[in-house]
Amino acid sequence: MHFTGRTWRPPYEAHSVIIQATSGCTYRKCRFCSLYKDECFRMSPMEEFEEDLAEIKTYQPYARRIFWTGANPFAMSYENLKLRALTVRDYLIKCQSMAMFASIRDIRDKEVWQLKKLRAMGINGLSIGTESGDDDVLALAGKGYTAADIFEQCRKLDEAGIEYYFVYMTGLAGKDGGYQNAVNSAKLFGRCNPYFISVDSLTLFPDTELYRMEQEGQFIPAGEKERLQELQIFIRNLQIRTHLFANSGSNSYPVTAYLPKERDAVVSELQSVCDTVSEEEMAEYRRSLKSLG
Ligand code: SF4
Repeated sequence: MHFTGRTWRPPYEAHSVIIQATSGCTYRKCRFCSLYKDECFRMSPMEEFEEDLAEIKTYQPYARRIFWTGANPFAMSYENLKLRALTVRDYLIKCQSMAMFASIRDIRDKEVWQLKKLRAMGINGLSIGTESGDDDVLALAGKGYTAADIFEQCRKLDEAGIEYYFVYMTGLAGKDGGYQNAVNSAKLFGRCNPYFISVDSLTLFPDTELYRMEQEGQFIPAGEKERLQELQIFIRNLQIRTHLFANSGSNSYPVTAYLPKERDAVVSELQSVCDTVSEEEMAEYRRSLKSLG
């Protein structure tokens, strides 16, 4: 298999077969991220892609879901995505869905009719690192799009029937910013249809812009309890039926919940953690994180 640079797939794709479609990120400007800082974006040549498919076919001929790695393979043109999707089906005849990371920017350059065709070819399950639905926080994080852009592009995915997943990042607004971020993000996410929402919590690594800003006093990180309170507010305000996973390594206390059914239970659980675990203990956990992976 051809894997170059950093290979990253979300925890919920653990049962999918993975194949490299691209490597690196087309954007590399998010201020909290250093994942692909030294790696140029590259599309895997079709020859490599086909060799990998042939290899997968030898050990997983009936694979039903395949995850294309790379920070945003959906940045590829409609024609390129189409060619790859059809090629996957040549090799893996039972494959029902091809999932991948996508940015809001990557959806912007595609028409609804193209999205519908890609969906019909099996592309489904886009993990979108929205991080927030609040314009101030999106600007602070350097995401390069607004809440209105998220809404507009996700409407296109809804129309095309493409399933998508959001990410929310607690702590990204900095000290005292969590309330506004949680309320506005819940409001926006509630107007979209994310199949589920995955929650991370900001961890500042030295090779990021946000870390530099913190060192220079331009960004004051939120405390750990403040982040749990932010998560409570986010959950309370999220008025859609969805599944929330706040159980990745960056969460100092992991929780998951079906919403709205388990809303009260999970909010109480988080309150109990705030009441019984010290700020220092949680901060110590964050200091121990060496990478996002
Ligand atoms: S968060 Fe995603 S889009 Fe932003 S720089 Fe990192 S890999 Fe690229």
